[in-house]
Amino acid sequence: MPIDFTLTDEQRELQATARKFAQKELRPVATEADKIRDPFEAFVATREVYKRAYELGFAMSFVPREYGGPGASNVDLQIVAEEICAVDPGFACTLLVNGLTLLPVLWYGSPEQKEEWLRKAVNDPKKTFLGGWIVSEPGGTANFDSPRPHPAGMAVTATYDRKNGEYVLNGRKMWNTNGCGWDKRGADINVVLARTDKAAGGREGLSAFIVPRDTKGFTTTGILDTMGHRLTVQPEILFEDCRIPETNLLPGTRGNGDICITKAFTWSGPVAGIAAVGVMRAALDFALDWCRNYTAGSGTPIIHFQNAGYLLSNIKMRIEAARYLSWKAAHYLDCHDFEGQEGGALSKIFCGELAVSAVSDAMRVVGVNSYLKDYPLDKLMRDVLCFPVYDAGNMGMQRRRLHGIMADPSYNPLAFAQNLKTRFTKSMHGVDSVPGHEVRA
Ligand SMILES: Cc1cc2nc3c(=O)[nH]c(=O)nc-3n(C[C@H](O)[C@H](O)[C@H](O)COP(=O)(O)OP(=O)(O)OC[C@H]3O[C@@H](n4cnc5c(N)ncnc54)[C@H](O)[C@@H]3O)c2cc1C
Repeated sequence: MPIDFTLTDEQRELQATARKFAQKELRPVATEADKIRDPFEAFVATREVYKRAYELGFAMSFVPREYGGPGASNVDLQIVAEEICAVDPGFACTLLVNGLTLLPVLWYGSPEQKEEWLRKAVNDPKKTFLGGWIVSEPGGTANFDSPRPHPAGMAVTATYDRKNGEYVLNGRKMWNTNGCGWDKRGADINVVLARTDKAAGGREGLSAFIVPRDTKGFTTTGILDTMGHRLTVQPEILFEDCRIPETNLLPGTRGNGDICITKAFTWSGPVAGIAAVGVMRAALDFALDWCRNYTAGSGTPIIHFQNAGYLLSNIKMRIEAARYLSWKAAHYLDCHDFEGQEGGALSKIFCGELAVSAVSDAMRVVGVNSYLKDYPLDKLMRDVLCFPVYDAGNMGMQRRRLHGIMADPSYNPLAFAQNLKTRFTKSMHGVDSVPGHEVRA
């Protein structure tokens, strides 16, 4: 049977475990932590429930079995992520970023780096191991692949000190989930993207480095205060003559950091897509329950009014369409060794933007009471607005990726649907980053 959406027995069990964890253990923490005014304290309030997620294998689910990890497929990850995000997508973002950090080590690291860091990630006796994915910068991130030399594109530099066999990092980053760790001394491992060649553009001049916690010259200078996703943490980070051994360069990313960024944000695309499904599901659950019980003074529950039924139906359609696109994109990544740049972007953009309209419709059908902070639509709206702008923004990064793929002469519009292997090349980068210029190699 080539197409079958039925979950296996193992997947149903995984779903039940994730649902029980989310509803019983995460929900009480999320409700309280969301109210904490200080963003760092809100994150720290999730530490105990994070340990439970770690025990259950959710924090490092993507680490392959050969390194002692759970070795979950991308489709399995979809099942878990939807359940967690139906309760809190901020907490899920913390888990997601462990993957954005450690998968580049798996894809581009040396055998020694993989042995050290993937094993450490799954064998932490404290169960608090975090990965920080350090890409975004205060001056802007979308044009990381600009063909123009520094200071266009990525600004943080990594200068090679041949005499000491070290790289020296300088500059500022921001938005880097988990990067501060639980105590502002840094995540256990940070993967930092930096400019190794200031004269070159983003397609040749970027590389990625491992910066472990407590490295001198790495400082958390602030914590960003966001409207939603309150349970996760986004710090500001300063690199000041931060010296790391040259062996901390991920060898496969030398001059190839642009490909590393895109592959990581491709992997996270369907995860962000299914996160949006989780939030839509929570919005529908609340709105449906409300419509079945609230009469608006009519003497009959408003579910019996046509407009309520129609709006609820519209939300349900969006949930189902978004879920299967995310599953499809995840399945494509499973089939093609994480190479599925088109599908990753399609699910990230489509599901996130659809979810904003779905939560808005849930508010419309519930009516004025949806605007009260007493009810969950307040948090759902604050959380959902993140989807189009995080995890590589839908305008400056994700749509630009699709544009680059579609403009390439090799583009086959049926490849994704037919599960045919595709190749993402550097020539697909740089599109639209210099307005009005042809940037193809
Ligand atoms: C909760 C959360 C978690 C995050 N976690 C991380 C993380 O772990 N690590 C990390 O590094 N970052 C993280 N980020 C940042 C996130 O990945 C952003 O998507 C990323 O910084 C890019 O933002 P942007 O696309 O808005 O780029 P910007 O460079 O700020 O661009 C702003 C806007 O300008 C326009 N624009 C810019 N250039 C172009 C162009 N060439 N063509 C068309 N339009 C353009 C677009 O409208 C774009 O949206 C996080 C953000 C949030 C909110």
